Amino acid sequence: MSLRSSIDFLLFQWLQADNLNQRERFADHSRDTFDAVLDTSERIAREKYAPFNRLVDTQEPHFDGDKVTLPQATHDAQKAYAESGMLSAAQDYDWGGMQLPYTVESAANAFFGCASVSIGSGMLTTGNANLLMAHGTELQKQVFAKNEFAGRWSGTMCLSEPQAGSSLSDVATRAVPDGAGFEADPLGPRYRLKGNKMWISAGEHELTENIIHLVLAKIPGPDGKTIPGVKGISLFIVPKKLVDTEGRLTGERNDVALAGLNHKLGWRGTTNTLLNFGEGKFQPGGQGGAVGYLVGRPGEGLKCMFHMMNEARIGVGMAATMLGMAGYLASLDYARNRPQGRPMGVGGKDAAQPQIRIIEHADVKRMLLAQKSYCEGALALELYCARLVDEQHTGAPEAADDARLLLEVLTPIAKSWPSEWCLEANSLAIQVHGGYGYTRDFPVEQYWRDNRLNMIHEGTHGIQAMDLLGRKVLMENGRGLQLLAARINSTIERALQQPELAGHANALAAALQHVGAATKAAWATGVPTDALANAVPYLQAFGHTVLAWIWLDVALAVRASGSSDATAQGRLAAARFFFHYELPKIGAWLRVVETRDQTCAELPEDAF
Ligand SMILES: Cc1cc2nc3c(=O)[nH]c(=O)nc-3n(C[C@H](O)[C@H](O)[C@H](O)COP(=O)(O)OP(=O)(O)OC[C@H]3O[C@@H](n4cnc5c(N)ncnc54)[C@H](O)[C@@H]3O)c2cc1C
Repeated sequence: MSLRSSIDFLLFQWLQADNLNQRERFADHSRDTFDAVLDTSERIAREKYAPFNRLVDTQEPHFDGDKVTLPQATHDAQKAYAESGMLSAAQDYDWGGMQLPYTVESAANAFFGCASVSIGSGMLTTGNANLLMAHGTELQKQVFAKNEFAGRWSGTMCLSEPQAGSSLSDVATRAVPDGAGFEADPLGPRYRLKGNKMWISAGEHELTENIIHLVLAKIPGPDGKTIPGVKGISLFIVPKKLVDTEGRLTGERNDVALAGLNHKLGWRGTTNTLLNFGEGKFQPGGQGGAVGYLVGRPGEGLKCMFHMMNEARIGVGMAATMLGMAGYLASLDYARNRPQGRPMGVGGKDAAQPQIRIIEHADVKRMLLAQKSYCEGALALELYCARLVDEQHTGAPEAADDARLLLEVLTPIAKSWPSEWCLEANSLAIQVHGGYGYTRDFPVEQYWRDNRLNMIHEGTHGIQAMDLLGRKVLMENGRGLQLLAARINSTIERALQQPELAGHANALAAALQHVGAATKAAWATGVPTDALANAVPYLQAFGHTVLAWIWLDVALAVRASGSSDATAQGRLAAARFFFHYELPKIGAWLRVVETRDQTCAELPEDAF
């Protein structure tokens, strides 16, 4: 098994992504052009990323009080990524893009995540520029987005503050109009920002000529007060270095100062920063205050940010998946080569026999198959969601709307499920290595550390769970959940026709019914605190049901391929593992959901 063979199978045999060239937008593409993008990405990831993954972990970003230094390898890798055209792959030809389907872009990016997630490719820069393409003015697109797609400048997302993480309605950064003619600035209504942004990834470095921060801040009214809640939040472009309407640096430094670097458990190749906006360290135009240009309308900042969330969250899910996959491949290799122990025969072990390799022990096979079922299943889920993004953007109106709604329901799973279970895969990869896995001589401990972030950023596990049970399954009168159930039922119908898969189909039908009943039971009293007290077990059960569906659908594609080689056997075994070892877990998770169990919620603080 290799990552490329899995991607090829899932993209072309399961999702039939090559048929996307029947859409007008992708008409110039073919299997050949898709292969060329995958080949190039795989090569750059192999040559410029993988060899330096440990180096960027040990040579953390360094701040000398003036500049942040990163290893040369990071400069080289990101340059190669930008030169490959991947930053603008999905954009129109007019914008220097390739009009590549998001499904293929996402698959190509998987190689970088597997090789070195922490060197980073372009997720933040592309996300930042895509947001401007959707909500920016023509000039904001030309000046900021275009230079980001070209790799000349990079982008950040500045949402969090020291006191406002999950609760963004509490952001304290303020933006006030910059002088009398503030509305007439060609780059957008010009404000001065003041506040602190915490945890900002890639917030300071010398990798690109400029850094374009997208910053959430509140604009006070004439009485000096701000609108409480998320409705008061606006979005601003705040470049590190000021630029003119032609995209040239003016030579003036904006008032954005690095207060310090955060020293992280993992993902150390990417800087993580506390940024001070408007503290007066720099004086653009002779005064303190960070110059920012409004994007969209005042009060619509979070709405603009959420525009990009589905793709960003698929990106996070894919990163978690690829870290899991990297650990799986490393532990598979180790298990094939490590001799340890002897088989247990009827009369016990025969010490005179040579040792066997650990891959021959049933328990090690269990750990490997668990990793395979988590990581290949998650990869399939991410690509399925990416395919929905393409459907939403290029499908016929009804199909596009269905894709939109399905994405609403599936996105919390696409983000959270790999973050939890591919992290578990990393833990199993360490276990397969025994004591060696706990040392820095092998790569698996780093994969685990890097992956531990994914349940925290882009909405924590708990926040995603409440989004799923509190909002997504209820929205539009539960139509998203019904759409998902219809797709799952269609897979069940097809699998029931195949004797080898009928048992799985019946198990999935029962799981789906159970999730539906538990959703109703959770909301039976209509009291949010009752329903949401066990949102995370609900997320886990929902996620496992979705993954069982994905595996059953993939198993149908394996059988349809007519292949019975080792790879096909492996995929069917991973599906079987998921149905036999994983899906039954949902009973325990759903029990506390449907009984609205308050064991945790009602425990008084001093009883802990
Ligand atoms: C390495 C790294 C990179 C990051 N990159 C960026 C970035 O580029 N840009 C950016 O803006 N942010 C970034 N973040 C910030 C990240 O999104 C936040 O850390 C995250 O949103 C959680 O906020 P917090 O850390 O303040 O935790 P808190 O919000 O304080 O949460 C702490 C715990 O309480 C739980 N909790 C909080 N509120 C509730 C609730 N209402 N109900 C139930 N449980 C709740 C959470 O689930 C969590 O378990 C990054 C963070 C890290 C660690």
